[in-house]
Amino acid sequence: MENAVDIRNLNKTYKASGRRPETVALSDVSLEIPRGSIFGLLGPNGAGKSTIINIMAGLVTKTSGSVKIWGFDIDVNERNAKVSIGVVPQEINYDAFFTPLETLELQAGLYGVRQNQRKSMEILETVGLADKAHAFVRSLSGGMKRRLLMAKAMVHSPPILVLDEPTAGVDIELRQQLWATVKKLNQEGVTILLTTHYLEEAQQLCEQIAIINHGQVVACEETTKLLSRIDNKEILFRLDKEITAVPESLAGYVTELKNKRVLAVRYSPGEQPVSTMIEKISQAGYRIDDISTEESDLEDVFLQLTSSK
Ligand code: ADP
Ligand code: MG
Repeated sequence: MENAVDIRNLNKTYKASGRRPETVALSDVSLEIPRGSIFGLLGPNGAGKSTIINIMAGLVTKTSGSVKIWGFDIDVNERNAKVSIGVVPQEINYDAFFTPLETLELQAGLYGVRQNQRKSMEILETVGLADKAHAFVRSLSGGMKRRLLMAKAMVHSPPILVLDEPTAGVDIELRQQLWATVKKLNQEGVTILLTTHYLEEAQQLCEQIAIINHGQVVACEETTKLLSRIDNKEILFRLDKEITAVPESLAGYVTELKNKRVLAVRYSPGEQPVSTMIEKISQAGYRIDDISTEESDLEDVFLQLTSSK
């Protein structure tokens, strides 16, 4: 089966303008996004994520390379490519004086969706806004506005939904809500592409992750495989008594004594269960008073991925 999205050797250089120098935003990016998947594009600010999405959506012109959306080449079959994706932009923009229902009807009109084929209420249901259908948009909470943007991107029933940093600056509870909505849409058959600079978000949602840095793809594989390649967690055990030496039973781990009572262990979450570590520490005769973990940030991940190549 053809991929939902096929990007080949994509390059983008923004021309210099005003005081802005010429910027190479994408260098030879190739990506294949399978139909039906939740695919994560992970990278720090300025990596080129929005540029990829804006090229897919027809908002930015590429310098070279090819992009196929649901089998349609954006150069050859622009219109079909365009109606095959719905994009939820990075910035929140909304029509304050309309209700959610009116917003969706208006958008459906823009896409030329016929009256009898509109599913506005159904879509509001999916994103959990059915009871706000007639409220003023300006009265909605930040999270509701974001979900309305998702709904708006879905009015023409595109098979692919693209979310550009859906949870940047969003609190934990709301993030969980948005994730639930994304999963639900995916279960209903929508292919999801999401960009994020949170490793955790990509980890929670995506079956496959492409990591992009300075406009280049530095890794692209199944999430579980990717995580097992990254020793991305450090766990700290505070023990009940002074540690004279790292216990023999932990010989297979990368360990460090942080101080007399705190032992740090670096591990790959995919491969080494924490329960085993706990067992081994107690076998050595210690009791654990406290456990804390620290996730390494994206920079560490890049360093590890690029240095192992
Ligand atoms: P991300 O979404 O990953 O944060 P962007 O795609 O927005 O990254 O930006 C990639 C690079 O391209 C950055 O260096 C950014 O400054 C530059 N850039 C983005 N948009 C423009 C533009 N319209 N004109 C010039 N440079 C741009
Ligand atoms: Mg961006």
